[in-house]
Amino acid sequence: MARSSSGQVFKSGEGQVFKPGEECPISGVYRVVHDPAHTKEHEVTCVYGEKFPPCNNCGDHVRFVLERGAHHVDVDDNFKM
Ligand SMILES: [Zn+2]
Repeated sequence: MARSSSGQVFKSGEGQVFKPGEECPISGVYRVVHDPAHTKEHEVTCVYGEKFPPCNNCGDHVRFVLERGAHHVDVDDNFKM
């Protein structure tokens, strides 16, 4: 079981585990871990501020693990207006 990350300081954030309903803390690539009975792990892109959704099959059992955070291009210093 993943331990609660509440109270921890974010560094790179990689390896942090999130549950459905929690807010995405950083845009980037997340590894999705399902109940292995219905599907294998895969990757998705999540955007800062959006909530992680429940799975249509395993519901709230799905977990999102931050693999690689990346700033959205709109907030990157090189592209800001
Ligand atoms: Zn699932």
